[in-house]
Amino acid sequence: MGYLLEGKPVAERLRARIKSNAEELAAAGATPTLRLLRVGEREDDLAYERGILKNCGLVGVRCETVALAGDADDAALLGAIEDANRDSSVHGVMLFRPLPGGLDITKASRALSPEKDVDCMTPVNLARVLEGAPGGFAPCTPKAAVEMLKGHGIPLKGANVVVVGRSLVVGKPLSLLLLNEDATVTVCHSRTKGLPVLTWRADIVIAAIGKAEFMDESFFGPHSIVVDVGVNDAGGGKICGDVAFGRTLPHVKAISPPVGGVGAITTAILLSHVVDACKAQKRSAV
Ligand code: NAP
Repeated sequence: MGYLLEGKPVAERLRARIKSNAEELAAAGATPTLRLLRVGEREDDLAYERGILKNCGLVGVRCETVALAGDADDAALLGAIEDANRDSSVHGVMLFRPLPGGLDITKASRALSPEKDVDCMTPVNLARVLEGAPGGFAPCTPKAAVEMLKGHGIPLKGANVVVVGRSLVVGKPLSLLLLNEDATVTVCHSRTKGLPVLTWRADIVIAAIGKAEFMDESFFGPHSIVVDVGVNDAGGGKICGDVAFGRTLPHVKAISPPVGGVGAITTAILLSHVVDACKAQKRSAV
């Protein structure tokens, strides 16, 4: 039976650090504040928002939501981003993505101030990830996948890691973060040939595909460490990952569950970025 890579203990350690930093900042007169920008009312955005609000309450980060109508246009969205840029009481901004069709994500990404970009939407922060440069904020979900492995003491230096998925939100930045940890990274996608052979050979496989239970035990061996980033609708109000968890668990060395896995860490990473942004903005205001 594989070892369970749970997100909760990793997230709890992160939250303890965030809480003590947030308390120090509040005592010095600056309560770390996150502004969520939401367009429309997609159920997965609302669920993520509820999770963020709950976590903010636990660690002393203030959170406010600006919700735009589902048919908002680019001008309304850019206006909301500019408002957040100008508001010195707001330290971090997160825009729920993907945006409804018709809105220009490129314009939105370029409009946000990089020092408030706590989920790495802007080209400036993406470039910092590419350079492996310190400072800036890496995207929360890829960083959560890396923290999951590090938090469970799994060495990345020299490890052969296969990332399945190459989106700008997850797969591509994740492959760069892993390279920055000295892993040897193979990035796979929908045109990759022989995927099960590549995943079977890897030490670590990270699934970021967005297809319910696309991979099963036939993709892995007893040596495999599997991190599942996928969040898919399994029907009946349930979610499942990109890996068939129940079938795969007995056959691999370790695997993260679809609930209580990477997602549990993602929000903690986001709030740690808000605290870091607050610290940096407080320093530069002096
Ligand atoms: P996406 O933009 O749809 O990208 C999916 C990637 O998977 C693409 O690169 C695609 O390849 C690849 N892919 C599709 N079918 C494939 C196949 N048959 N074989 C190999 N690769 C295939 O999705 P995303 O935004 O990266 O999200 C990925 C998953 O992570 C989703 O389930 C999403 O819900 C989840 N997610 C989780 C969190 C979290 O906090 N846990 C946060 C964000 C996203 P091509 O490029 O060739 O099309």
